[in-house]
Amino acid sequence: MDIHEYQTKELLAGYGVPVPRGGLSYSPEQASYRATEVGGSSWVVKAQIHSGGRGEVGGVKLCHSDREVAEAANELFGKRLRTRQAPAGKCVYRVYVEEASEIKRELYFGIVLDRATERITVVASAEGGVEIEELAANNPGALIRTTIEPAMGFLEFQARELAFALGLAPSQIAKASQLFRAAYRAFRDLDAAMLEINPLVVVADDDLVALDAKMSFDDNALFRRPMIAELRDRSQEDPRESHAADRGLAYVGLDGDIGCMINGAGLAMATLDMIKLAGGNPANFLDIGGGASPDRVFKAFRSVLHDGNVKVVLVNIFAGINRCDWVAKGIVEAFAQIDVQLPVVVRLAGTHVEEGRRLLAESGLPIVTADTLAAAAEKVVAAAEIGTRAAAATGS
Ligand code: GDP
Ligand code: MN
Repeated sequence: MDIHEYQTKELLAGYGVPVPRGGLSYSPEQASYRATEVGGSSWVVKAQIHSGGRGEVGGVKLCHSDREVAEAANELFGKRLRTRQAPAGKCVYRVYVEEASEIKRELYFGIVLDRATERITVVASAEGGVEIEELAANNPGALIRTTIEPAMGFLEFQARELAFALGLAPSQIAKASQLFRAAYRAFRDLDAAMLEINPLVVVADDDLVALDAKMSFDDNALFRRPMIAELRDRSQEDPRESHAADRGLAYVGLDGDIGCMINGAGLAMATLDMIKLAGGNPANFLDIGGGASPDRVFKAFRSVLHDGNVKVVLVNIFAGINRCDWVAKGIVEAFAQIDVQLPVVVRLAGTHVEEGRRLLAESGLPIVTADTLAAAAEKVVAAAEIGTRAAAATGS
């Protein structure tokens, strides 16, 4: 789960990371009031969306009066910002007003979980403000990595070494090392999956400040971090994914036109590959999990259809703990309750498969069945192509 910049800054400040003074607003009037509250003579008005790269697309505006602040906020509210990280765009409903900082140096500081070493890894660079992916591709030598031993934590000497490696002045070393370790404590204590301060800036008096901050959390740990779970902002999520997640279903939205209902992530990956191989494009995949009841299958089926991009549906179940007869019952139930206008291809294998196939055959529903995954993929791709041609012919 991702959270907003202002939320990340509040969390980090609680752990002792210096951040600029700022206030959140939901309207232009409130934004100018916040500017007065924050004080000073210049402010930065920042669109709060779950994406970086806002600066490049007008999502970060420098202002010199409270009127300018109100105008900048007015321009941002309700706007869909299309960034490099979120090409489809994210809508702005909250704006953060911050005292403007005078930047002397921009650095990069991040914390990630490195799956290869199974360790939390700190990544830093003297080249801040640039996207880390870009840096890793164009100038990997500029990245400094520090591996954290879980039993020891982020040790002071490691933090100091990092500060020296970034070329910080002696008067900045202690401040930097405190900041790094505070950020690490926040990451570890809150079950974060990623933390990024980009840029981390050096300002007047050799102080360091987190000018931009981003954090995301392990969804599987949210149950023990209710305060973090509260920070969720649905307006920033893919509505297809949150709709399914609310029903306890694992759903991934893609950009093709074939809706997929599958059991297990491994089979889902294989199915997506087979669809691609047959020349088609998946719109999504929904994992019904293990031991899915007919009701759960029905809800899953409805969630797949909920996606407006779906033109055909493929159900691919290799039942172990699952039962093909329950899956079939769920599908029949879906046809009974929803007006299903789309072609549906079903491939069932495993536990209670005869019973499952019998239920589908006896239902008299226009369901295309397949015995193997390869056959199912070919049939569903053919159905999608027929649909596309028919739409082209009727001009719809
Ligand atoms: P992002 O584009 O979404 O990553 O948003 P950032 O918060 O990182 O802002 C983008 C850029 O705007 C930063 O890299 C800075 O160069 C600039 N910026 C942001 N806040 C300030 C500020 O207070 N003062 C100045 N001078 N520049 C700022
Ligand atoms: Mn940034």
